[in-house]
Amino acid sequence: MTEFSKLSISSAIKGLNNKDFTSVELTQYYIEKIQENSNLNCFITPTFETALEMAKKSDENITKKKQRSLEGIPIGMKDLFCTNGTRTTAGSKILENFIPFYESTVSENLWNSGAIMLGKTNMDEFAMGSANTTSFFGNVINPLNPKSSKNSELVPGGSSGGSASAVCSGLCMGATGSDTGGSIRQPASFCGIVGLKPTYGRCSRFGMIAFASSLDQAGPITKTVEDSALMLQSMASFDQKDSTSSRKKIPNFLDFKNIEIKGKKIGIPKEYLIDGLNSEIRRVWDQGVNWFKSEGAEIVDISLPHTNSALPAYYIIAPAEASANLARYDGIRYGFRENEKDIKELYEKTRGKGFGKEVKRRLMIGTYVLSAGYYDAYYLKALKVRKLISNDFEEVFKSCDLILTPTTPNVAFPIGEKQTDPIEMYLNDVLTVPASLAGLPAISVPSGFNDEMLPIGLQIIGRPFDEISVLSAGSMIERLRGF
Ligand code: GLN
Repeated sequence: MTEFSKLSISSAIKGLNNKDFTSVELTQYYIEKIQENSNLNCFITPTFETALEMAKKSDENITKKKQRSLEGIPIGMKDLFCTNGTRTTAGSKILENFIPFYESTVSENLWNSGAIMLGKTNMDEFAMGSANTTSFFGNVINPLNPKSSKNSELVPGGSSGGSASAVCSGLCMGATGSDTGGSIRQPASFCGIVGLKPTYGRCSRFGMIAFASSLDQAGPITKTVEDSALMLQSMASFDQKDSTSSRKKIPNFLDFKNIEIKGKKIGIPKEYLIDGLNSEIRRVWDQGVNWFKSEGAEIVDISLPHTNSALPAYYIIAPAEASANLARYDGIRYGFRENEKDIKELYEKTRGKGFGKEVKRRLMIGTYVLSAGYYDAYYLKALKVRKLISNDFEEVFKSCDLILTPTTPNVAFPIGEKQTDPIEMYLNDVLTVPASLAGLPAISVPSGFNDEMLPIGLQIIGRPFDEISVLSAGSMIERLRGF
């Protein structure tokens, strides 16, 4: 009897093809797990019936030896990806009853590869947040606890907190996330799993509910690096329906196994040694440096001088784009409406009641920095800073192949903490935002623990479209970390 909880995606594919178990059995197992762990609040909309139908179809395909690359693998779908006929909320009251009549390209690609939809995972409202505490559907809980206080509930990180908590607690084999400033990598780090943000343009944004279009990128959240490669293989595609999706050739991401770390130049940016970086995270970072050295990589000290300005620039650009993207939720075309006779009042009341506090804060900031008189001072300036940050990366990638940093300045914190001061919450993203602004691929891989046994992730940033090297470095850490 196979122990399903121990399976990775890659081992489950083997087991299914060997007929050790069926996809219906595997799916049934995950459905029960989700039901048993409903207190974690990982799923907004479970889709168990659909899942079992899909699993039946997969079993038929396997019997006919017509299996596709992810045939029969049950996954979670972040509730930011529109799913045809299945409610899609983006964690917001304003989309509480929204049922799309089209499918996002990323989810369609996954279903076309044979993956099975267990349900739509919880998330921060419109992907704005770092703790999954802004969802209209309630907080998501991290299944991990500090060693010394077993009862304290921690945040899973955000915004893809439902996906991360679900993968960590074994409620699905993998899940999709989206990353605008860190929303795949930060929750992966908080939950001790792998999160990969591909290069901007690698995955189509079609049907992904927009937060900040110039930054949003879909990616996988998985238990292992190999699973990440497997999922990305299906998710990535050029898409006519997204003008920013890339025509670059999509490699076989599993080829990361053939890439040697020996001889690679690994950059360590001094600016990432920020004030307030937790000392245990610092220790794991140093350990990471030693792992690369022991594999024959060359360590180079690098400087990314504009790192300090990344967070302020992000918190101008992202809200600015959000204020334009979220203008469409007016109570007329989508979901929730507060009925009023006067149209202006209808708009105001619908948006006033439909959006949560954090989203409203961002929309206020966004409209402010785009308004006449402030545009040049804030938005345009932030765009210039963004360019400088991209240039910094371009420059250092002349002398190194990959960059190694911590993913977050701290480990998972208790629910309720950092709620009163938004800036404190924003600081969570200080180490993930620069790669987002530059559109670079970056992975977070679990690399150690603090003395409370909470996981610590290291981040590896690569050159544009070099996900393979990023994966290869990630798998080296996975091999050497020894747990
Ligand atoms: N936590 C960041 C924010 O709140 C990043 C979110 C994201 O990547 N979607 O904007």
